Amino acid sequence: MIPYGRHFVDEADVEMVGRALRGDWLTTGPLVEEFESALETVVGAPTVSVSSGTAALHCAYAAIGLGAGDEVITPPITFVATQATAIQFGAVIKFADVLPDTGNIDPAKVEKLVSKKTKAIVAVDFAGKPAQLDQLRAIADKYNIWLIEDAAHSLGTSFMDQPVGSIADLTTFSFFPTKNMTTGEGGAVSSPNRELLNKARLFSRQGLIRDEKFFKIKTEGNWHQEVHDFGLNYRLPDILCALGISQLSKLRARQSQKNKLFKRYTSELEGIPGLKLPDPGENSEVNWHLYPIRVSPSRRKEIFNKMRSSGIGVQVNYIPAYWHPAFDTSSYPKGLCPVAEEFYRSEISLPFYAELTEVQQSAVIDSLRGAMNYLD
Ligand SMILES: *Cc1c(COP(=O)(O)O)cnc(C)c1O
Repeated sequence: MIPYGRHFVDEADVEMVGRALRGDWLTTGPLVEEFESALETVVGAPTVSVSSGTAALHCAYAAIGLGAGDEVITPPITFVATQATAIQFGAVIKFADVLPDTGNIDPAKVEKLVSKKTKAIVAVDFAGKPAQLDQLRAIADKYNIWLIEDAAHSLGTSFMDQPVGSIADLTTFSFFPTKNMTTGEGGAVSSPNRELLNKARLFSRQGLIRDEKFFKIKTEGNWHQEVHDFGLNYRLPDILCALGISQLSKLRARQSQKNKLFKRYTSELEGIPGLKLPDPGENSEVNWHLYPIRVSPSRRKEIFNKMRSSGIGVQVNYIPAYWHPAFDTSSYPKGLCPVAEEFYRSEISLPFYAELTEVQQSAVIDSLRGAMNYLD
């Protein structure tokens, strides 16, 4: 089976992790800061490493002080962690429908949902392609609310020459194996706003304050640390930061390899009736995470099954988040976001990762043509 996504680990990664394992630190050691500085050079803003993309979202919401009854505007086309972590703070999720070409949140729909209770807009860069960050930024500024970007798919992407990570108030990343790079499990939060990032960092490190100039308790000795706001343990250990440093050094090379694969898919699949290809769009330099195609909803399952049975590990991204039974259907009925529902019903993600060989890619293309009964 050719999988839809796959990590890439080489001997240099193994060597780096081995060095960390033989060193003095397994968890909070020097490689944490080294990885965070390396990330900063890619994302263009100070960054904190955490234990997953889900943890990163949880920390971002903690940083803005998200609380019970606050509203968060999110798109349905995402992995449900975008919403689940906000719900942990008692926030109310508002779903804004998406743009039909990209699956990204539609700024016009966002503006209609803004209320006095709105605390944040959360954009998701579906497949790696950035959301309309300029328009979302303008709405956030106009109503004085936060802009958060779930960039689990888009590490390495730029929007209008600015790297993803330096644009929103807080940006979150995931290093799950299928994403643009991996630490096994892992994630990060970046922010151009030092104060926000510090809050995210504290939340991810149990809220422990170690700098005596901030202490409220002044009577203790050098061992003392104290907590002002409760946090959790979302640290990314030194061992995984070692892997991260090594993985990050390969990000650009893999991006350019994926760009070649992206172009080849597009040139080989263009013109097939009933097939919509991902829109490369303008104003952005994309580090693609997925190659999402759309077919007729009435044939999606058949095409998916045919491809799977011919050994092509296609995937579907994503079921609209509010379709998960965890959401109450009286507040989130079917049909709430019709564009997103149509997007989901027609979507198939083709196998896409830098190490996909030309022969494998040809097999995917042939399988799709066959499944669509398109024989030229
Ligand atoms: C992968 C992903 C997450 C969660 O990241 P984990 O590292 O798996 O916790 C969140 N949002 C989106 C859009 C994702 O794709």
